Amino acid sequence: MNSLAERIARLIAAQGPLSVAQFMTMALHDPQSGTYASRDPLGTRGDFITAPEISQVFGELLGLWCVQLWRDQGAAKKIRLMELGPGRGTLMADALRAAKLDPKFLAAVEVVLVEASPALQAVQRERLKDSGVSIRWLERFDDSLSDRPLLLLANEFFDALPIRQFVHAARGWCERMVTIENGQLAFALAPSASALDIPASRGKPEDGAVFETSPAASALTEEIARIIEARGGGALIVDYGYDNGTFGDTLQAVRDHRFTEILAEPGDADLSAHVDFTALAAAASRGGAKTFGPVAQGALLEKLGVTARSAQLQRANAKSAADIGAAIHRLVDPDKMGTLFKALAILPAGAAAPPGF
Ligand code: SAH
Repeated sequence: MNSLAERIARLIAAQGPLSVAQFMTMALHDPQSGTYASRDPLGTRGDFITAPEISQVFGELLGLWCVQLWRDQGAAKKIRLMELGPGRGTLMADALRAAKLDPKFLAAVEVVLVEASPALQAVQRERLKDSGVSIRWLERFDDSLSDRPLLLLANEFFDALPIRQFVHAARGWCERMVTIENGQLAFALAPSASALDIPASRGKPEDGAVFETSPAASALTEEIARIIEARGGGALIVDYGYDNGTFGDTLQAVRDHRFTEILAEPGDADLSAHVDFTALAAAASRGGAKTFGPVAQGALLEKLGVTARSAQLQRANAKSAADIGAAIHRLVDPDKMGTLFKALAILPAGAAAPPGF
């Protein structure tokens, strides 16, 4: 066991089993040894690589999406551009560079980055120090953010939010817990069943079926939707996940670009779960907003002009044309990130479909 696993084991010995959500929270955010808290897990040398790290076009197109939405809604004089979980700050740097096309947008914008990890906040400050706009950082989303229109981007953020898992057993839906067995962390089912509100669209569960829910993701989405409905703006949430899913266990641990054991090395592997877009859309509706999609990432990027933009880049950088093409291919190809990754847009109730949807 690594040192974080030992601390988790002591906590379990003292207070009883943890939910999967509590375990995820400690593994990702423990201030000393959490995956995000202490280090930068992104990029080719890290544990995993994300769309903005693959091609600059990703952030550029999302930035232009925001500018277009702002124009369509009347070009407000003050607007907030926010990103949840900005990683290395690459998406925001690319988005702001593209947004320079409209100096009025940049003059109207306050950028807020929500980042729990001090290590990644430092990377973002360095990356964005010459961006020319006012940027502030928050550790978490809060309701000081409801005073102006909100344009919100989140790529591979919601998959990192903790999930609870329930397993269909003879005695009903029992929560999957993390406990200690033979001196090691192990999964076990809670002794008593939980009452769950499971969408009928999931169908009839078989024995052993797993139902996942992220109370953190739903609550946050509802809060975002309330602000967008009240003040205007819009959100674009991009992640791997499912829409109208069936049952299944999607919790995964990744280290050095490979899947690994979930409980074996907390803090040394990245833990995530597939995003339930149906649940996010339902939460946004509870917040009074309207949702579009989810659409496949490949389809979204095509509609936003990925082909023209990459051709332009290839002409300007003839020597790296093949690499540029390969990177775009990775983002849009259905066998790569093109369909597993999806995008959900949240807009005010009266809004028309945003670009790309
Ligand atoms: N969006 C970036 C990074 C994705 S990794 C990209 O596409 O490259 C997930 C990011 O979310 C990291 O920056 C991580 O530190 C941050 N994060 C994860 N959980 C968080 C939470 N609960 N609150 C704030 N930030 C969080």
